[in-house]
Formats: sequence, structure tokens, C-alpha cells
Amino acid sequence: MGATTPAANVLTDRLLRSWLRCRRRAWLDRHGDPAERRWTAHRNLQLDDQQRCFVALLPERPGHGHAACAAGAAGVVGLRLKGDGPDGERLEAHPPLLRRVKGHSRWGAFAYQPVVARQGRRLTREHQLPLALMAQLLEQEQGAAIPDMLVVGGGGRRLERDRVGFSAALRRQLADSLRKLAADLERNSPPALAADRRKCTLCSWRASCNAVAVADGHLSEVSGIGAKRRDMLQQLGIEGLQELAAADPDRLAARMERFGEQHGEAAHALVAQALAQRDGRVDHLDRSPSLPELADVPGVLLYDIESDPDARHDFLHGFLRLPRQSDGRWDLAAASYHPLLVLAEHGEERSWQRLQRLLQRYPEWPVLHYGETETLSLRRLAQRQGASEHELLALKTRLIDVHARIRRHWRLPLSSYGLKAVAAWRGFQWSQPGVDGARALLWWRQWQGSGPDRRGSTHALRWIVRYNRDDCLATWAVADWLLAADPASADHHVQP
Ligand code: SF4
Repeated sequence: MGATTPAANVLTDRLLRSWLRCRRRAWLDRHGDPAERRWTAHRNLQLDDQQRCFVALLPERPGHGHAACAAGAAGVVGLRLKGDGPDGERLEAHPPLLRRVKGHSRWGAFAYQPVVARQGRRLTREHQLPLALMAQLLEQEQGAAIPDMLVVGGGGRRLERDRVGFSAALRRQLADSLRKLAADLERNSPPALAADRRKCTLCSWRASCNAVAVADGHLSEVSGIGAKRRDMLQQLGIEGLQELAAADPDRLAARMERFGEQHGEAAHALVAQALAQRDGRVDHLDRSPSLPELADVPGVLLYDIESDPDARHDFLHGFLRLPRQSDGRWDLAAASYHPLLVLAEHGEERSWQRLQRLLQRYPEWPVLHYGETETLSLRRLAQRQGASEHELLALKTRLIDVHARIRRHWRLPLSSYGLKAVAAWRGFQWSQPGVDGARALLWWRQWQGSGPDRRGSTHALRWIVRYNRDDCLATWAVADWLLAADPASADHHVQP
């Protein structure tokens, strides 16, 4: 599902929100080739959150359009507002919800305020300014001033309300942003890629922008370079991956130190990483065994969690049980997958008991996972459930982060050391291409939303479990490569 293409020359709340997130994104929304857009689960998750928040705020069904406003409905959806901006621009806004408040409007002894829902915990300009645009147009429409607007959050689970005053300063910021947005949209070519490319993971233009970043050797393509370091390097005259790879590390370290000692220390690693990516080089950084804990164990458990971060709920703990044969070979053909689904109503105690039972069934088996999430979640859960110091220590020793081992032992020709990038580099293929954590969360919400018997979307549950199992297998693909590349463990390969 993509955004609707805004009519030419009209500035909309949606364009403004895109622009606040990334100037290039607004330009692409207006002028980009729609065929290059990729569906992202993020927008659907946002709409789902919004729906929950609005139901929690106004349990009765809202009315629709002008007629509902005239009738004084408590909530109104589907109103498209139009008007003119301070410089004569044509403006449009489509408030997701209007809420009846005290006041006097052309409809009677009441008025409306616009409401938006936020995802995440913070209220930002991305909420405030589109909301201000809605308020400005609504003032014209209802013939009454809007002293404040409302932002709701918490995904409907624990409704949070933030009142945003429609101050003179906010009006000025809105006029200023609209002016800059209009100027950006008139450009013949798109603005530069976002300085902080982390926001690209949620953007429907990411495929085309990634291609541009690779083709241009954009600095953000070098693993370890975020917005801040990129700025720093640009100030030093280093504009891209090629220049960074060609830089003298000692001289660069001396120059980067002026931004702080830690940046000087990072210079050698950054140049080496750029070289690895430029030349497709794989560097062995630490020749000691990368997974010594696996030397004599009877098997390993590959572990991956799926979470709903807003609800702080880990809804699936997936384990792939991978045994070892008597000759020491890993037996992937005999591997079995054990998904532990955790419903909120099960309660944490029961989840912890189930997890403990599974872990205790294989006491000698290390638990391999990729990244910090699993360790943090499991240990926090254990702590909350009153595990002893001894149990916590045993858990800590047993959990092995494959990502940390890769980082310590190898430098790879990759722009990311995330599971998707590293496992794909090893030739691993997910059975459901293009799926990510956000899509799995959306499936979870769809499954949960399918009624008390939850029979409506067992497909969704099957897809989540399959995705999680693939992540466990991908973790193994990386661990297996580590073992194979380890001189000391070269004879313990998985069977072909
Ligand atoms: S993918 Fe990134 S750079 Fe491209 S438009 Fe989206 S946020 Fe901007």
C-alpha cells in the first residue's frame, strides 16, 4: 500500500510529514516513479496503532464529513480541508480524526480540534507541524480559533494524551516549513539522501535510494558511519567511500581527534572498513576460535525473539534445536523447531516456566542468537521472575551472541553487520522474501485482531513462525561459517 500521489502544486499534510522526515522523500512522493515504491509494513502498523488509540479516546463510532460536523458528532473522520497558505500556496489536509470541544463555530455552540496518533514515545515536529496545518485549515473551515490540538499515543493499550498549543511560534514554524517544502518540490532533482540513513528502513523509497547510495559510494554505505560521523568526515573533505578508503589512517586519526579522542581512535577501523567494502575484502581480525563454547557440546539451540516494542511484549520465542552427530558433525537434517508463543493473557510467570522447561531439557546446549535483544529480554524476564544470581550467571554464560563474535573476529565487505546482510552474504535465502520484523508484527496484530477464537488468520500465525524459524536458520548459517572459517574448528562442519 503506498501513499496517494498528491495533486501538482498542492501542499498537503502528508507531504509535509514526509518532508519533515526526509527532504528527499517529499520530493520523491511528488515527482518519483511510483513503480519504484516498495510496500512497507510500517504504514499499516501506524494505521493499526492509530485505530486503537482513536477507539480508546472515543469509543463511539465517529461521524463522516461535513454533515457530521454540522450535526455536532463527538468525533468526525473523512473531512478533507482546503485553503490557502501565507504565500498563496494551495493547501490541503486530511485530519485522521476531529474531536468535538467547547467553543462556538459556524456549526453551533461547539467546535472541533484535530487529533493525530503518534507511534513511539516522543512527540516530535513530525506530529506537531502536520497537526498545525490541519488546525490552520480547520480554523478557516469552522470559523473558530483552535487554541490547542491533541496527540494520542500508547497504541490504545494505555492511552497517552499530549496537548499541543497552537501558538504564534508554531504558526510561524508552519509557514516557514511550508515555504521550504514548496521550494524543495520545485527543484529539478531530488535533495540529497537523508543524513541519518536509519530512517530509510521505514521508507517506501528505500530500494531506489539504496541503489543511489551504492552507486555514488555514499559515506552512509560504510558500516560504522552514522549521521554524525558523516558530517565530521565531510567537514574534513571526505565525501564518499572511495575517498575514505584512499585516506591515510594516521593522518585521518589526527584530524578526527579534534572532534573528540574516540573519533580519532575509530579512524583506522573506518578506513579499513571502507577498503574492505571497496575491494570486497574479508579480514580476519582475531585468529583465536570464534565459538570455543561449541567445541564439545552435544548440540546448540538457535534462538530468536519476535516482539511488539510498543507493547513491550515478546510474543514469540523461537528455538531451533540442532544436534550433533557422534563424529562431531552438525546434523541440520535432524534439526527441529520449537516456537513458544506468548499471549499477554498467559502472564509472564507461565512464559518463564515454559522457557525454563525447554532450556532445562538441553542443559549442555549453548543458546546462539544474533544481536543483543534475546540476551537482554531473557535475562530481564529471569530477573523479574526472581531467578537467583547463580541462575542469571548460568544464563549469561549459556547465551552466545553470534553478531558480537562476527564483529570481534572478522571485517566483512558489507555495509551492515545485521543478520539479514551477513546471512545473505553467506548465501542464505529466506523462504518469504522481503519479510522483516515489522511485517511479522503486523501479522501478529492481524492474528490477534481476528477475534476470540482467532481462526480468521491462522495463515498470519504460520507466516510469523516460518519467518522466525528462518531467522534461527540464518543465525546458524552465520555461526556455521564462523566455525568453518576458524582454523581450529575446520573439521566440525555441518553436513552438506
Ligand atoms: S529511503 Fe531514506 S533517503 Fe530515500 S527518501 Fe526515504 S528516508 Fe529519504
